[in-house]
Amino acid sequence: MKERILVTGAGGFIGHHMVKYLKEKGYYVRGADIKKPEYEKTHADEFLLLDLREKTNADIATQGINHVYNFAANMGGIGFIETVHAEVMHDNVLINTHMLDRAYRNGVKRYFYSSSACIYPRYKQQETINMGLRESDAYPADPDNEYGWEKLYTERLCQAYYQDHKFETRIARFHNIYGPLGSWQGGREKSPAAMCRKIAMAKKNDTIEVWGDGEQGRSYCFVRDCIEGVYRLMMSDIRVPINIGSDRLVTINQLIDIISKFENKTIHRKYDKTKPQGVRGRNSDNTLINELLQWEPSITLEEGLKETYYWIKSEIEKNNYLEAEHQNSTEPVAARCSNL
Ligand code: NAD
Repeated sequence: MKERILVTGAGGFIGHHMVKYLKEKGYYVRGADIKKPEYEKTHADEFLLLDLREKTNADIATQGINHVYNFAANMGGIGFIETVHAEVMHDNVLINTHMLDRAYRNGVKRYFYSSSACIYPRYKQQETINMGLRESDAYPADPDNEYGWEKLYTERLCQAYYQDHKFETRIARFHNIYGPLGSWQGGREKSPAAMCRKIAMAKKNDTIEVWGDGEQGRSYCFVRDCIEGVYRLMMSDIRVPINIGSDRLVTINQLIDIISKFENKTIHRKYDKTKPQGVRGRNSDNTLINELLQWEPSITLEEGLKETYYWIKSEIEKNNYLEAEHQNSTEPVAARCSNL
């Protein structure tokens, strides 16, 4: 019989995609989150609305479950994690500590934890050109922000549960995961979604605002590759943290160049150097994942961005349509939005 699976953060971007993937593979899936998915209905067999900062809720979520994929986190793009410190550490340390402990005590067999490239030290990311961060680069530790420190703490907590209890944990360090059905507005969106939104809303020859000088270096991994990597890692016997990311470095300016070609728009940039920019250059080194899983992400940035761009464009059009409808109607727009 196939394992019964819990996906936390199932109302969010990666968790929602994971639920879909596991359902296609024929698993029984329980989703849990503090909110339901925003853009389409969940595919989970059951969906529990739970605040996983509470120990009793982490206990309810993990009962009768064989495998846990934990994606629940209070997080967002650079504008969010560089401005909200205490709340991010407080919430995530509670979610992760309770989830791991309750999973272990309720007899879960295997546990996946979604860590982040944000754990890597500042001093390795000071140049735009980053040849790739190896897993061993994590120490001596000096993450760039509190979100990264909490991720590093929980990586160690997972490993401590293996050391003391032989509890099987798998840890991935995600490098900028993007794709359709992720936040694209409101302050929690990441750079690919923000740029897709700005360019989709711009007319030819318009100017968009860019945070920093646009020369920050990043690598971006499409969500389908991420999900495939997570599943392969979960099924493996790899207990050390491993990068899941693309090793193709691009600058934000190059990202804009790629996106603006989809509709042949000439886009001008106004650089705002007062806005949060994160580290100067970050990239994934995929030597270890290739060696241990004989696999690495392969969907090209052009392919992934195109799908993301047209999804965001359709969301904008849907919102504009509702806005226009609202202006011709006496009914409150919220009433009609709730059915989406
Ligand atoms: P997301 O914000 O879309 O999903 C996180 C989900 O966690 C949200 O649906 C949110 O409602 C839920 N959540 C927050 N607080 C909760 C609580 N108290 N109880 C229950 N649920 C709660 O983010 P995502 O991009 O899908 O990220 C998933 C995981 O991957 C997170 O752990 C994140 O830190 C990690 N990660 C993501 C990226 C990326 O680029 N997207 C990069 C590195 C790491």
